[in-house]
Amino acid sequence: MTDLLRLQDIKVYFRSRAGLFKTVEVKAVDGVSLSLGRGETLALVGESGCGKTTLARTSLRLIRPTSGRIIFDGADITHLPESELKWFRRKAQAIFQDPYSSIDPFMTVKQILEEPLILHKIGSREERMEMIARALEDVKLTPVEEFMGKYPHMLSGGQRQRVVIARALILRPEYIAADEPVSMIDASSRAEILYLMKELQERYGVGFLYITHDIATARHFSDRIAVMYLGKIVEMAEPRELIENPLHPYTQALIEAVPEPDPNNRFRERKVIPGEPPSPINPPPGCKFHPRCPYVMDRCRTEEPQLQEIKKGHLVACHLY
Ligand code: SF4
Repeated sequence: MTDLLRLQDIKVYFRSRAGLFKTVEVKAVDGVSLSLGRGETLALVGESGCGKTTLARTSLRLIRPTSGRIIFDGADITHLPESELKWFRRKAQAIFQDPYSSIDPFMTVKQILEEPLILHKIGSREERMEMIARALEDVKLTPVEEFMGKYPHMLSGGQRQRVVIARALILRPEYIAADEPVSMIDASSRAEILYLMKELQERYGVGFLYITHDIATARHFSDRIAVMYLGKIVEMAEPRELIENPLHPYTQALIEAVPEPDPNNRFRERKVIPGEPPSPINPPPGCKFHPRCPYVMDRCRTEEPQLQEIKKGHLVACHLY
């Protein structure tokens, strides 16, 4: 598999207001390197505040990194001005968490889907109508004539997210970053939407960055999983290897926290990962997980572990290995 996207030592730091006269440095992403192959799905998993959304937005060049490089299709796009990014804007698309805010409530479904085609000067009017109809069929919003004239408020949350997926796919992108794409829609439609995305991703061979806090769905829908904690990747492997043989204490805690069905077919309560949830403001020195780690040693408080390959395709950043 050739690389579609490569992130090299990406750091995203910014200053945030803390009180009336003080600002603090926030290290949202702190030295992340990863690559995504063509047609590959990489899941980025971690609690909220770990930097996964910032990393996804950086990969789309919606945020410029403080340092590091973004290589897409062999081209360094880190510092390209917006005027030279039009080709990239067509090839890279986003699906955000909230389908309510990511589409214009005053546009019909047809207008929502036609907008990116007009923006990129694609097709005649008739060709565009054909593309819109095909996109709606792809996301199973049929009969298409009926859905074309609807406004977002006339759709359910799941249907709105299908429109967002159709809009992302209509330009036939090579890369999609999907940030918690099902977390704001009702539980009954979540699996359906995830299976639909997987089906379309495979059909069109799109490289997919799937951002989630839910390691259980990451297992089903990805080729590799990267676990992120306080701006860093702490472990990365294929799903089966990562879930069955987690090495990093944080990954072990994430897996422990996944609720299991009980014999009565109801879900047991989700366990909470012990300790304070991560905050990128004033992160601890050494290993950032050390205040929550049950295996903490002296060197963990001062020395930051580096991500290293422990066995083929399985990388971990922890002094235990
Ligand atoms: Fe725990 Fe130390 Fe490993 Fe960090 S480096 S996860 S503190 S054992």
